[in-house]
Amino acid sequence: MKTDILIIGSGLAGMATALYLAELRPELQIVIVSKAKKDESNTKYAQGGIAGVVETKIDSFEQHIEDTMKAGHYLSNREIVELVVKSAPDGIKDLERWGVNFDYEKEGTYELGLEGGHSKHRILHHKDSTGKEIYDKLNKQVQQNASIQLINNCTALELNKNQQNQIEGALFLDLESNQFFNISAPRTILASGGIGRIFGHTSNPEVATADGLAMAIRAGAELSNMHFVQFHPTLFYKASKEKSFLISEALRGFGAYLVNQDAKRFMQNYDERAELSPRDIVCGAIFKELEHRNESNVFLDCRHLNPTDTKNKFPFIAKKCEEEGLNINKDLIPVVPAAHYHCGGIAVNQYGQSNLENLYAIGEIAETGLHGKNRLASNSLLEAVVFAKKAALKIIKEIQVIESKKHSEIEFIELSTKVHSNIKAEEYLAALQSEMQKLITVSRDKSSLCQIQNQIVSLQENFENNFPITTSSLKLMEISNMLLVAEKIVNSAINDV
Ligand SMILES: Cc1cc2nc3c(=O)[nH]c(=O)nc-3n(C[C@H](O)[C@H](O)[C@H](O)COP(=O)(O)OP(=O)(O)OC[C@H]3O[C@@H](n4cnc5c(N)ncnc54)[C@H](O)[C@@H]3O)c2cc1C
Repeated sequence: MKTDILIIGSGLAGMATALYLAELRPELQIVIVSKAKKDESNTKYAQGGIAGVVETKIDSFEQHIEDTMKAGHYLSNREIVELVVKSAPDGIKDLERWGVNFDYEKEGTYELGLEGGHSKHRILHHKDSTGKEIYDKLNKQVQQNASIQLINNCTALELNKNQQNQIEGALFLDLESNQFFNISAPRTILASGGIGRIFGHTSNPEVATADGLAMAIRAGAELSNMHFVQFHPTLFYKASKEKSFLISEALRGFGAYLVNQDAKRFMQNYDERAELSPRDIVCGAIFKELEHRNESNVFLDCRHLNPTDTKNKFPFIAKKCEEEGLNINKDLIPVVPAAHYHCGGIAVNQYGQSNLENLYAIGEIAETGLHGKNRLASNSLLEAVVFAKKAALKIIKEIQVIESKKHSEIEFIELSTKVHSNIKAEEYLAALQSEMQKLITVSRDKSSLCQIQNQIVSLQENFENNFPITTSSLKLMEISNMLLVAEKIVNSAINDV
């Protein structure tokens, strides 16, 4: 199949890039391919909201810039931080233009939330389901746009290169028919999201298996700060480690306390900002508390808050806790830190371009320089929409001649594959996740990092020996990708010690 623009991933980054491109040049043919059967993405689960200075009487760009720099341990690129923060009002207007509804106060101003690390209320939200609101509204726009074709249930396997060594599309596997096909395009945009599934506890859904990043690594993409992985302090704790859900930071912004198993607050012993400290500080404090007391989880306490307000403002969290047999107004909510967001990734410039010719990377997969060592809460949806626009503007300048006038049909191709059983492969995944979980719990000295690295390299070697051809199964392909990316994360951590 040939198209003008190929986008891999249908979260906010992929869909916003497609919509901007279609608005700027309606004659462009854009194909978005997503591996999820329906609409699975990190975007859909964003709870807190999107940060932006929309009320200049009480807030300023300078304060948002400073909060971002501070949360990122001053390792962010200030120019990029300024660019993103100052573009926020426009990005938010674009989301509204595409149908996204944010919550308002009675008097018609935005109802602005507060989250850890922000010195002002500046989080626009749609109750506690902002990501779902954004996802649903953009998805509707994408479905209605004649220039954009959305193909679900197909996974990208490898980036393709032409004779000039430029990226020219990708190879896919149709997960329903188990057949392979190529899509060729003069520009390819990787928007395939995060890596959370590499870790034992994560807030990310099952699609976050680092595929895009692994493909880019194999194609020779330059990486940046791969070990900058952000952990969220409050994933709902399940002893079984089965799929869990996040308890938004906004609940702490609303006044919930973190308490230990004796129902005692402890955050003020670690930082004067207590529960509203940036995420890495809260995670560090929880780990110290757990280690010290040899316990598996701490709790969030909402019992002192107004019960009606809590349930009204956090209906998703209240409902999910109820499903677990807990009333958020009466019971303590068990929580544990979990891998949440990848601040590092494919190194890109201010237009989202990677070092590989004709390959862009937008959204969580990219390292733009915005987040530094630690992302300020609610800055990632903002980053995705801002860079989607920057990339779209750059691409339409580059592509003067439109080659394909309409979408051609998908043509399936033959590839030799072996069919493997997935069962044994799952053991490799469990071993990998347990090694990587150590990355947050052990102190990051060189010798413990090298031990983790050795384990991962040996898992990788064994995996490759046992499963030499991995394209025959989604699960095998994902595990192979996660092993590769895990190795890069640990290497990067070792180089930073
Ligand atoms: C629980 C949770 C809460 C969050 N809350 C907030 C918040 O309040 N505010 C905020 O700013 N950020 C929040 N974040 C982070 C934010 O949601 C993400 O960083 C952002 O949505 C990433 O968007 P994206 O488009 O880059 O990736 P995603 O939304 O993850 O989309 C990735 C897409 O790529 C597809 N894909 C993956 N692999 C392949 C493949 N091999 N082939 C084809 N397609 C593939 C997936 O199916 C998906 O469609 C939260 C994240 C989580 C998990």
